Amino acid sequence: MREPLEAGAIKVLQGLQQHGYEAYLVGGCVRDRMLGRTVKDYDIATSARPEQVQKTFERTIPTGLQHGTVTVVVDGFTYEVTTFRKEEGYEQYRRPAEVHYIDTLLEDLRRRDFTMNAMALDAEGKLVDPFGGMEDLRQGTLRCVGEPHERFEEDALRMLRCIRFAAEYGLQVESRTWESLCRHAPLLKHIAMERVRMELERMLGGSAPHTALQYLAGSGLLRYTKAPLILQALHADRDWEAIAQLSSVTGRWAYLYLHFSRSAPEVEEELKRLTFSNQQIREIAAVAAAAYEVLASKRSVLSAESSASAQDDAKRIWKLAALKFGPKALRELHDIISSDRRLDLFAQADPADVERWAARGTDWLDELKVTKLSELNLSGNQLLSGLSRKGGPWMSVLLQYLLEEVALGRMENRTDTLLEEAGRWVSRELT
Ligand code: ATP
Ligand code: MG
Repeated sequence: MREPLEAGAIKVLQGLQQHGYEAYLVGGCVRDRMLGRTVKDYDIATSARPEQVQKTFERTIPTGLQHGTVTVVVDGFTYEVTTFRKEEGYEQYRRPAEVHYIDTLLEDLRRRDFTMNAMALDAEGKLVDPFGGMEDLRQGTLRCVGEPHERFEEDALRMLRCIRFAAEYGLQVESRTWESLCRHAPLLKHIAMERVRMELERMLGGSAPHTALQYLAGSGLLRYTKAPLILQALHADRDWEAIAQLSSVTGRWAYLYLHFSRSAPEVEEELKRLTFSNQQIREIAAVAAAAYEVLASKRSVLSAESSASAQDDAKRIWKLAALKFGPKALRELHDIISSDRRLDLFAQADPADVERWAARGTDWLDELKVTKLSELNLSGNQLLSGLSRKGGPWMSVLLQYLLEEVALGRMENRTDTLLEEAGRWVSRELT
């Protein structure tokens, strides 16, 4: 039995054929199907013009008419159906906005980037593979369609796609393709940072981020981005194995930047240059900031209680950092500490503390009674009326103090208890 998604794709092919047009599955779906991988989406190429595609099916959406693409809806699934086309007049080393329609599949396949992405499959399951994509896949080779120099000159983004595919699919980049990529690396300056970021995100979020980093370092590609990046210092002689053990992409990005010993604000600047969303920037920078705070903290300075054990100090540092940067950032940091202790950063910390954080870090986060002010059973208004004082900057200092006391388990999270302690704090600190 066919998967419903694939069954719908076959219906689209048959619908087009019944109207006298040629139609094929093309690109990533053919590649992934041949490899026995899950297919995320089915792209279809056809000799029908967009308006003919629209007439053939009941439900269509004109998603990309200027590129010849119509989205066809079948059984609730969507399929991008694109008219056979040629891309000409590449300018500025980017794919052209203008395309023109053609009548044959072969030319449509020829404009594609790699042999494994230039295969087509018809409704009867017949493979069209003019550039030897299957043989390359069998050999584990990633190869440009045609002349690699021309392909990278036409569209410099293909260099990043090449590295992403090689890493993700565990392929060797064919030698001429690789040489050409290295030679054309400076062309990357023509590619928008947003596109670069999207490719890097997929590399780091993929199944072999360590391999992708190795290729990036080996090619020197990131020395040539439009806006200069800290990542240009990526070194080929480092081994990045540990990054693949981190389950979250946020953690992977933070880990990467911790290698360069850059401060959290510098990391934020870089992520902005890469056009990450504010939310992503906050999350990644929080992990970096937490790492510096925790690993660089000196116990003797932090600990007021001289009797506290080293274990208690390590716990306190960890929990206070969780209040400051959020428990999520500390969970990421815990994963980083657990997967790799070789970061330069760790040189500043007491190795015994590092062991404690690795062993107990997540338990300590689970112990936290509260993690943010909104969880405190005392509102700002309750505080003001309870103390009969006017508001001021002292309030946030006091609330932060109460939050820490409750979080560390030294005080109950009850309004009356909190107000009593607030009274004591005011007479101690403000009078
Ligand atoms: P994935 O979706 O997993 O990234 P994909 O191969 O489907 O892989 P898409 O970006 O969805 O990649 O593109 C679909 C197809 O369009 C590709 O398989 C390839 O044939 C062609 N293609 C995409 N981008 C380019 C490009 N920059 N240059 C040449 N051909 C491309
Ligand atoms: Mg795709």
